Amino acid sequence: MSAPPRRGAAVRAAARMARLSPPSSPRAHDQRGSSAASSSSSSSSAAAPAHEGASDDERQAAAPRKRRRVSPARSAAAVKHAAASPLPRRTASAPTRRKRSVGAAEWAFLDAAEPHVQAVAVPPLRVHARSYHAPLLLAPPSTERPDGAVLGRAARSALLGWYDGVAQQRAMPWRKPFLDPAAYIGREAELRAAQTQRAYEIWISEIMLQQTRVETVIPYFERWLAAWPTVRDLAAASTDDVLAVWKGLGYYSRATRLQSGAQKLVADPELRGLLPRTAHELVAVVPGVGPYTAGAISAIAFGEAAPMVDGNVQRVLSRQLGLYASMKSSATTQLLTEVASRLVRAVAEDGEPKGSAKGSTPKPSDRPGRWGQALMELGATICKPKPECLRCPISSTCRAFAEGEALARKPLSRQEAVPDMEDMCDLCEPLSDDDETNAAAPAPVATAAKKVGGAVQTKLSFGAKSKAAVKVAEPSAGIEVAIERHVRRFPRKTEKKEARLEQCVVCILRREDGRVMLEQRPEHGLLASLFEFPATPLRSDDLSSSAQRALALSHATLVSGGQASYVRSAGSITHLFSHIRLVMHVHELRVPEAPAKPNGERRKWYAEEEVEKQSISTGNARCWALAQGKTSKKGKEK
Ligand code: SF4
Repeated sequence: MSAPPRRGAAVRAAARMARLSPPSSPRAHDQRGSSAASSSSSSSSAAAPAHEGASDDERQAAAPRKRRRVSPARSAAAVKHAAASPLPRRTASAPTRRKRSVGAAEWAFLDAAEPHVQAVAVPPLRVHARSYHAPLLLAPPSTERPDGAVLGRAARSALLGWYDGVAQQRAMPWRKPFLDPAAYIGREAELRAAQTQRAYEIWISEIMLQQTRVETVIPYFERWLAAWPTVRDLAAASTDDVLAVWKGLGYYSRATRLQSGAQKLVADPELRGLLPRTAHELVAVVPGVGPYTAGAISAIAFGEAAPMVDGNVQRVLSRQLGLYASMKSSATTQLLTEVASRLVRAVAEDGEPKGSAKGSTPKPSDRPGRWGQALMELGATICKPKPECLRCPISSTCRAFAEGEALARKPLSRQEAVPDMEDMCDLCEPLSDDDETNAAAPAPVATAAKKVGGAVQTKLSFGAKSKAAVKVAEPSAGIEVAIERHVRRFPRKTEKKEARLEQCVVCILRREDGRVMLEQRPEHGLLASLFEFPATPLRSDDLSSSAQRALALSHATLVSGGQASYVRSAGSITHLFSHIRLVMHVHELRVPEAPAKPNGERRKWYAEEEVEKQSISTGNARCWALAQGKTSKKGKEK
């Protein structure tokens, strides 16, 4: 039997060689991008070798583990070979990396014994092994670095200490002291009831906080708790009342899911209105509760070592790990969840008495909840999309920060350590070609040490250290900019899908007595159960005013059951949903002799002053305001 063709392996090797091209080559970055395309594409080639479809672990086991250093000349030849390949090229802006399978064995690299001694992955090539992403926040206690940087447990304590200070400053009604089980010995039922109440409040606040700012949520949260103080109260509420209290927060299905969740908990013969304590059970039992909310409830209310990974935490962790990958990839989100799980467990174990059995489940405590909130608070206030790294309590464990620092002294740096070929990181994407990090770094001028809680967090040392420079207390604005510019690239940005454009005709329909027609949307789906004016889609091939008028007339006649007459056009507004850009053309009509009962059970006539009291969607509220002459025709508030 003849040997299978080796084209896929050859191209993959070429891609790796191109990746290892020396940074001095001005074309190195482009070359790596194009050759990587061949590697990726080859994985699905019919000519691929037998182990091509195997998992990464299997492939690593099958591959010879031989360390190779690649000369620039050989690398250039490999690039040339790859460039000649007819396979499609990969660019940084259009990655074609195949989907990776993820399993427990995949996380072995997180246990790297000495991640702290790995060389910084200097941009733009960022040559590094997978184990580069082993969190420095988990570095073992014996870890020491020559610069005295705080790592491992000391860094975890620094973040907790920082959070304890700022939590007081940003008071929120759902932030309350932990219910310590030790204070309830012999009163377990009382503890369980109190924990459920705390869990209920966290559940409500976390659902409200999705896509919404804290300042906006606080009054809604207070009104909600005043209306339905317990799970049982919410289960017994009317859906219309729930929607009315939610009105203005948007994404109304969140409110109806909260209520159906409460009803399910009350109806459950085992739970009888109690919230489950583990994240796993919460996701399984409560509708609308995903892994993030479940982690928050379990950690904060019950003290379990459960991770909570929202967008803020993803950003913090991707920077801490130096992980330049899309947050939309399931491999990335699973890795970050795994890291968050290990971190919260380590923090819980930090609080265990000395001599506790290793690997045993830590006792419930306030530490997991404080830790999760600390990461979220850091992401919300310091590690923002535009970060303020010099205020960060854990900059010493941050890979992105270190890379930014290395970039600031780029002329002096060299890529020294070339990792084992088989260990090359396949999680990170190449840095985008159009990124501003490739612009010239500011001249290094200062050395500074920063103290957080008495511990040296990081030292900035750029270029020659003149006496004058050493005296400078803070880094120059130029260096700050260089670090921030690099850090801001994490996590890797993904292109947003453009919202689909749709158009519709909205009918403000009045009876002779002035009553206005509203219809209630279905109980499930977009804007579930909300009220709106009768509307019908407008075909994009005829948007003329005569077409709109004819459509409005026929729709008004249909829904009212009487002959409608046209009054006027009130104008148009554009309303944005996450995936739809809806242009709403508002028309007023009359139905002099409308039957008392309109067509359709979900349609009713309302007195004009009652319209605004109904739970109408924001887009329809804008249409109503337009018809009342309260907004301009472009739909902007006056
Ligand atoms: S050093 Fe900067 S990028 Fe790193 S975690 Fe802190 S704020 Fe975020």
